[in-house]
Amino acid sequence: MDELTTRRSVPLEAGAGPDNPPCPACGEPLFGWLADEDRLGAPVRRCESCGLGIVGESAGTEEALHALDRLGDQERARIVNRASLACSIGGAGWAGLVPGVHYLFTVEAVRRLIAQRDQVVRRRRWVPGASFVQTWQTLLNSVTFGHNVALAALGSRPAAPAHEPWQRRIDALASVVLAIPAAIVAVPVELLGALFRNGAVVDLRFELL
Ligand SMILES: [Zn+2]
Repeated sequence: MDELTTRRSVPLEAGAGPDNPPCPACGEPLFGWLADEDRLGAPVRRCESCGLGIVGESAGTEEALHALDRLGDQERARIVNRASLACSIGGAGWAGLVPGVHYLFTVEAVRRLIAQRDQVVRRRRWVPGASFVQTWQTLLNSVTFGHNVALAALGSRPAAPAHEPWQRRIDALASVVLAIPAAIVAVPVELLGALFRNGAVVDLRFELL
């Protein structure tokens, strides 16, 4: 066993176990990221190697590839990037945590996944409009009781509204009053993310090796 293999095997052996199943993209152990919340239905784990996030349990690589293909087709995908600056800032308030989502992709996780069907990422492209919206909603989530309230009001995605009527009224008001300030903050945050190749939404094109 060479030195590199020895070094790589240490975290696997140290971290693997029932609470830390292997990442379906790269095989490294998954670690807890977010606690169980009503709107997600299960705790969220993440891979500290490729960045893939998983809500609940994973059935493995095939399931993850199917989830990826539903974001495009077998030659392209548009991912909401879990390695984005917006996600780092938002944490549990990240707008990518949509009810019903199972896999939370990163460019590196996609690269590792599609390598298993002999594909490579040929091109990656930051999607400015969708990224600003994503970051804007993430910032608003930090001040509302519910989650993704503003985008749901615009009809663009399902929300997890607050439980109490008075909380929902405050959320509606906050989303209106803070819409423009959040947009003003979202611009530099997203530009910075894009500059460091950590934009919020990324288009990927694949090709066979
Ligand atoms: Zn991984």
